[in-house]
Amino acid sequence: MIEIACKKNKFTYNVYHITKAFFPNEEITQKVDEKQESLVELYLPGGSCFSIAREEIADELPHGLPQGIPDGRGGSVSVSGKAEAFRNISEEEMGQAEKRAVTRQLYRYLLKETGRPLAWGTLTGVRPTKLIMQMVESGKTREEITGFLEKEYFVTREKAELGYEVACREKELLSRLRHKGGFSLYVGIPFCPSVCSYCSFSSSPIDVWKDRVESYLEALEKELRAIGEMSGDRAPDTVYIGGGTPTTLEAHQLDRLLTVIEECFDLSRTVEFTVEAGRPDSITEEKLLALRRHPVTRISINPQTMQQKTLDLVGRRHTVEQVYDAFYLARKLGFDNINMDLIAGLPGEAAADMEDTLSQIEKLHPDSLTVHSLAIKRAARFGQEGRTTDLHTEISQMVDDAAACARKMGLAPYYLYRQKNIAGNFENVGYAELDKAGIYNILIMEEKQTILAAGAGASTKILLREPIRTEKGKEIDLVHVENVKNITEYISRIDEMIERKGEWLWH
Ligand code: SF4
Repeated sequence: MIEIACKKNKFTYNVYHITKAFFPNEEITQKVDEKQESLVELYLPGGSCFSIAREEIADELPHGLPQGIPDGRGGSVSVSGKAEAFRNISEEEMGQAEKRAVTRQLYRYLLKETGRPLAWGTLTGVRPTKLIMQMVESGKTREEITGFLEKEYFVTREKAELGYEVACREKELLSRLRHKGGFSLYVGIPFCPSVCSYCSFSSSPIDVWKDRVESYLEALEKELRAIGEMSGDRAPDTVYIGGGTPTTLEAHQLDRLLTVIEECFDLSRTVEFTVEAGRPDSITEEKLLALRRHPVTRISINPQTMQQKTLDLVGRRHTVEQVYDAFYLARKLGFDNINMDLIAGLPGEAAADMEDTLSQIEKLHPDSLTVHSLAIKRAARFGQEGRTTDLHTEISQMVDDAAACARKMGLAPYYLYRQKNIAGNFENVGYAELDKAGIYNILIMEEKQTILAAGAGASTKILLREPIRTEKGKEIDLVHVENVKNITEYISRIDEMIERKGEWLWH
C-alpha cells in the first residue's frame, strides 16, 4: 500500500494520478492534513518516502508578488508594469505553479525509485492534444512545442512528436467545419448482444430489454424531434450513432431511427455520419442495407482482438469468422469508410497475440483503426494485478506494433486521448487514411463544438457564446447536460431530459 498525505486538496489529483501511473496495481490511500509542515508526503511499501516543503520548490515558482498586495491603508499596491520577472502573480497562477513544481519533484523521485519513465511524463489529463493544439494555434514551432513538452512535463520525445502530429492533423480537419456556429449530434443506443466484461459504457443486453426497445425508441424519437426544433436552421456538421451497439436494433428499427434523424435535421452539409455497428455478431445484410438507404458515411466494426480465446474470455460471444464476414459484407454493400477498434492489454494476451491480430487486420485493411489500451482498473478485475511489470512492457510493445501496422496500411494518427488509470499511462489513438478520419471523435475530445446528445446516458456538451462564472467563481464556457443512464428512467423522464437541454441551448 502507498500512503499519501497532502497539505492542500489542490495537490491530491496530480499526486494520486502520477503515483498510480508508476504503480498501477498498488493500493493508494490519501489524506489531506492542513496542519502538516510539508506540502506532500508519500510512503512507498518498501519504506522509501518522499517529502517536499515549499522552500524546496521556490526555484520553480514564478518570481513576483501576489496580486493586490495590501498597502496598509485598506487598498492594494499593483506591481504590474515592472519587468516580467517581477510581475503580478495571481493566486490561481501561483497555485498552478506550486502544483506543477510538486508534481515535477514527485515525478523525479518516482522515476528514480522505479527506473521507468512514463511515456506522457507528468501530463495527467485525458486530452494532451488540447494543450498542444493551443501551442500550435499560437504559432509555436514543432521544435518549440516538443522541446517544451519534454522539458516541462517530461514527455518522451516519441510521444511529444505523436502529440504534435495529431494536433496538426486535428487542426487541419477541424478547419473544414464551422465549429463554433455549427453543432454535432450524438444518438445513443444502450443495448448490446451481451455485455463484455471490460465494458466502461452503460450498456444492457438486448435480450433482457427486448420488450422495452420500442418504448426506448419512442422516447428517443421524442428527444430527437425536440432537439431538431431547438436547433432551428442550424445543421449538424457530424452525426454519430453509438452506444452500446446500434446494430442490435432490428433493420426496420434502424430504418425508422435514421428516417427520424433525416426528418428532424438538415443533413445537406453534414460531413460525416457514423453508425457504430460495433459487434460483428449484431450485423446482418438487412441491417447494413437499411444503413445504405440513409446518408451514413462511416461505420465501425470492432473486433477488439482477433484471438478467439480472448473473445470467449471477455464474453464478447462472437467469433473471429464473424468479424471477417461482417467486414467483407459491408465492403460488398459499398461501405468505403470502415473503422475497426482494437484493445491492447486484454486479459491473457501477450504482444504475440496482438502481432497476430494486427496481421489479420492488415489483410482486411480498414480505412481507420482505433487502438485502445485497457484501463488498469479493469485489468485488475481480470486478475492481472500480478502482471504489472509484464503488462507495461507487453502493452508498450502492442501499442508500438499497432502504430507500425497502421502506418504500413497508410493510416496516420488523427486523434488521441487517455483514460484515467490507463495501463502503463498509455493513450488511445485513432489512425485513419486521409479524409477517412472520424471528425466527431476529434470534436468530442477537443471540446470545440456543441454536441447535442440524445438517448439514455448521453452527455450533451454546450459551448456557451460568452463564458459564465459558476457558484464557486470558476469561469466556464462549456456546460455538460447529462441524460439519466437508467433506461427505464430515461423513458419515464424524457420530458425532463428535453427541458434540461433547452435551458442552456444557444445561451
Ligand atoms: S460491445 Fe462495446 S458497448 Fe457493448 S458491452 Fe461490449 S464493450 Fe460494451
